[in-house]
Amino acid sequence: MFPGYAQDYIEPSTAQDERYAFIAEWYDPQAALIRRYQFLFYPKDNSIEMFDIKNRRKFLARTKSDTVRLEDMFIGSKIHVYSRQLTFVDFGDKFTEGKVGMKNEKTLAIIKPEAIGKVGVFFNILNKNDIKPCKVKMLKLSRKKVAEFYEEHRSKPFFNTLLEYMSSGPVIAMELMGTGVISKWRNLLGPTDSQKARETDPNSIRARFGTDTTSNAAHGSDSEQSANRELDFFFPPSGSGGFDVTSHLTDCTCCIIKPHAVRNGIEGDIIEAIQNAGFQISAMEMFNVETANGEEFYEIYKGVVNEYPNMVTEICSGPCIALEITGKGGDTTAQFRELCGPSDPEIARHLRPKTLRAMFGKDKIQNAVHCTDLPEDGVLEAEYFFRILSN
Ligand code: UDP
Ligand code: MG
Repeated sequence: MFPGYAQDYIEPSTAQDERYAFIAEWYDPQAALIRRYQFLFYPKDNSIEMFDIKNRRKFLARTKSDTVRLEDMFIGSKIHVYSRQLTFVDFGDKFTEGKVGMKNEKTLAIIKPEAIGKVGVFFNILNKNDIKPCKVKMLKLSRKKVAEFYEEHRSKPFFNTLLEYMSSGPVIAMELMGTGVISKWRNLLGPTDSQKARETDPNSIRARFGTDTTSNAAHGSDSEQSANRELDFFFPPSGSGGFDVTSHLTDCTCCIIKPHAVRNGIEGDIIEAIQNAGFQISAMEMFNVETANGEEFYEIYKGVVNEYPNMVTEICSGPCIALEITGKGGDTTAQFRELCGPSDPEIARHLRPKTLRAMFGKDKIQNAVHCTDLPEDGVLEAEYFFRILSN
């Protein structure tokens, strides 16, 4: 302990004084080193306070924040404070660990090949059940990768069928978080055999979207130990894991579901609307965009539109979901812009009420989705997310 560093915390007598503590890290590009902070959050007035751990001094005096939310703070999450992307690496005290720790349970979900056309519905099921997708990535599994993943089933008679099925097309892997999420997600899936599921558990995911015992729509880890192994398999701490990418990077356009839409749980409805309009989603990944990358991505708007700085702030304000959209050949960018509608949702609601911006946008900045402007930029923007930012 040192002067200024907040002391370990004793549970307050009233919720009024509640304070949560985390250890947060920030990569300082100038000094090329990682700085650690004690990060405090006070729900009463939604304020934050930070102490620099190494230099033993207050870094940020207690300040109110409009954007920071307790539900966005968990181990591994990233938040933006004054253009810095902080990563929460640990709990700062026992109180916080006790309160937030339970909600930090994680599991691996896979949307299997025949169900990825229903990914919008999946996001809605997650939101309705208070399950948070923290990582999302569409990828393609080789037979070798499937065999590695399903190692425990190697000697089973269905192993070969399983390899064939799981490598037959793209899948979407997700890290899910929530209280009791391992068993909660397994319960939502229902029995392994989709046909049996339709008899015993007709509302379950496998009953609704699966076909039989092999083609059963989705996967969920069966224990904490499996969840840890399986999450490391799909989302290794470093590197990409060596999976095949799904992006076409040709005849495509780029759509970013903005952080405000993800935060408000409407990404499922947006994706459903895109899929229902006949577009294909050929790549998908959740990103936490850093300020420098947000600026670079929006560079062409700099000095051209007044909203540029706020657009950067919005795209960096939390997780966003990037999509590569295909399905209309060389006309994909133009047709997808039609679906998105005018960039100002107010105008969109008057002129084009069925467009994505009209239905899901709030204002010019929080207008639900970014879409590529010019046909020749579709590939470039998809490349920015799926080749440059994706690891
Ligand atoms: N599987 C199969 N035939 C079977 C049992 C399972 O093809 O008789 C497939 C199915 O896709 C299942 C996966 O293998 O999801 C893993 O099997 P497990 O018994 O672990 O079922 P789960 O945990 O997925 O419910
Ligand atoms: Mg299993």
